[in-house]
Amino acid sequence: MIPTQHTVETPYMVGPVHLYTLDFGDELILLDTGPPTESGQRFLREQVDLARLSQVLVTHCHIDHYGQARWLAENSDAVVYLPRRDALKHEHHERRLQELFALIGELGFDKEYVEILRKRFTTSMMPLFPDRYEIAEQLPAELGIEVLGCPGHSQSDLVYTGKDWAVTGDTLLRGVFQSPLLDVDLENGGRFKNYEAYCESIVRLAGLESKLILPGHRFTVESAGETIRFYISKTLQRLQRLVPFLRGNSVAEVIADVFPAMTDPFHLYLKASEIVFMKDLLERPELLIDALKQIGLYESVSSSFETVLEHEPAVNG
Ligand SMILES: [Zn+2]
Repeated sequence: MIPTQHTVETPYMVGPVHLYTLDFGDELILLDTGPPTESGQRFLREQVDLARLSQVLVTHCHIDHYGQARWLAENSDAVVYLPRRDALKHEHHERRLQELFALIGELGFDKEYVEILRKRFTTSMMPLFPDRYEIAEQLPAELGIEVLGCPGHSQSDLVYTGKDWAVTGDTLLRGVFQSPLLDVDLENGGRFKNYEAYCESIVRLAGLESKLILPGHRFTVESAGETIRFYISKTLQRLQRLVPFLRGNSVAEVIADVFPAMTDPFHLYLKASEIVFMKDLLERPELLIDALKQIGLYESVSSSFETVLEHEPAVNG
């Protein structure tokens, strides 16, 4: 059985989001929940048989994907499964924010900006966590659904797979460059290393090639491989533009030089996250090159890689 795709509008920049249902007759599984909006809730009331809803599986706790998790926990008997690292974030909310803003401070932004962003994070971005939930990585085997960790965009991204399909959340999106978000690693301490995680994740994502990919946005993808290739090309294109500015400059200075018009605190956070990812790439390009070789994609991006590395002013030296 292939999950059914549903589409719900969101008020966010990314546009509509997809939810999926797997209907086994007596039981109904929902993959992702949609945003915490009125129309999101109306969709669930009208289109999902809450009386039969048995499990809710969440790909990652970003508001467009899990915004109704709490409401579903309150209005159905379903077991809500959330990624382990999102549960940790919730559990250590204060510590995470404190450490995250320390990390952002180290990137060279002034205190005023860090304060504005902190306020943004603690109000509008506040997660509506359900009171009861289970850890998705411990999903019961009898459901016949496999859970694959594919961090990169966030540290918690999960992919759910059946025999012929994969619900991939935000890990594979057609024509979208989803920023690798700067975050705290609550399991190992320090900064979460998106770049290293991403290099491992693309090998797992490429392994989904034979399955029908069911993404969190934009209906379909061409293929897992093509989507990864797009993302890498975009990354290298953006990196090429940044390289001349990176040496000796803080991340905040790089943004001021390359994107002088950027002032929205959240956009600055996204851009800063991206630049941190790029710097990690420049420091250890072999990680990504090896992963791409392993999945047969290196050839298609090798010339962009060479251009970037040629002009790289010896970050290590
Ligand atoms: Zn999303």
